[in-house]
Amino acid sequence: MRVLIIVVAALATLGLAAFGVVAAQRAVQPASAVVAAQAVKPAVAVLAAPVREKLAQPSIQAAVVAPAAIAPKPVAAAVAAPAAAAEPTRLAQNSAASNASATAGAALANATPPGSHAAANNALACDKPGAMGLARVVQIDTTGGPAFGFEHFKQYDFLREHEVVLTFDDGPWPENTPAVLKALADQCLKATFFEIGEHATWHPEISKMVAAAGMTIGSHTWSHKDLARNPYASDIEQAKQEIEMGVSAVHAAVDGPIAPFFRFPDLQQPPVLLAYLAQRNIATFSTDIDSFDFKMRRPEQVIKSVLSKLEKRGKGIVLMHDFQHATAEAMPELLRQLQAAGFKVVHMVPKAPVTTIAKYDDMLRAQDKMSANNTRPENSVVRTISGN
Ligand SMILES: [Zn+2]
Repeated sequence: MRVLIIVVAALATLGLAAFGVVAAQRAVQPASAVVAAQAVKPAVAVLAAPVREKLAQPSIQAAVVAPAAIAPKPVAAAVAAPAAAAEPTRLAQNSAASNASATAGAALANATPPGSHAAANNALACDKPGAMGLARVVQIDTTGGPAFGFEHFKQYDFLREHEVVLTFDDGPWPENTPAVLKALADQCLKATFFEIGEHATWHPEISKMVAAAGMTIGSHTWSHKDLARNPYASDIEQAKQEIEMGVSAVHAAVDGPIAPFFRFPDLQQPPVLLAYLAQRNIATFSTDIDSFDFKMRRPEQVIKSVLSKLEKRGKGIVLMHDFQHATAEAMPELLRQLQAAGFKVVHMVPKAPVTTIAKYDDMLRAQDKMSANNTRPENSVVRTISGN
């Protein structure tokens, strides 16, 4: 009996020790060291992986491997404990922020840089039983403008089998974008939104909601022009303006950091503009799986399109549109079916935010219909002098 108690106590200690070791690793390891296999792909680093997967293996090993080897490690556990204990506080703040006002959320987003490890660990937290939750957060180093999406670019293949990245284009848009955000939040998921500059100018409060919900926001030009056609194809200055006004407008709408992530309208990607984006250190995202949801009216069609293509390919960056009503409607069921089919969602974050160019920020301000001259109240400027 006594022997049994000792064995049970020893196993319990080992379990705690293993937990501490994992916590310590999570707390101190640099992103590049977390997954060595990613080292050959410099553009992508794994920021965080789920705790439950990591916990399971070391615990089992600890129970089987010689106890003496594990014994000193509770020290590491004790050291790591405060860092691990600090997490839930930040998580609580984060989940509160998604319900709070857009302004408060944006302020929080500023306090926790989107590409930071703290933000990545927060992103993995999920307080909803049975929800999908994120499988991983990957950090994209956009230096030199790496391009992703197997439809056009095949160098970087960072997803594992059954992993998906969810991306949404053409927002922000009333009703549909908030519906997509809610469906994602209900499953503790995050996605990347490629917003159109003009739309962000019309609905900045929705861009702020997207940011406050912890999503990654990239841009998708100023007014959704096909940049492979004239006048853009023959005039790079006009094409640059279309790209940069989009960056400046989305940045202004969010009123905080956005990602140096860009998607070309209609996936038309002229080489000269890819070279320009490379020089701007902005990553280009094509797609692995194009849902063609913009051609669909019914949510069931969107679900079928995404799932059948994913099942064929096994994994991928999925292109959808938060601008589309059918997609917004499809999201809750689509996510349920993805989970049932064993797919896991990976979230992309940038290593550093995009920098806007002052010239285009100024152009954006010039677009503004409001004039700085109009400071006097209307009734002192315009007066009825005849009639009623
Ligand atoms: Zn689009």
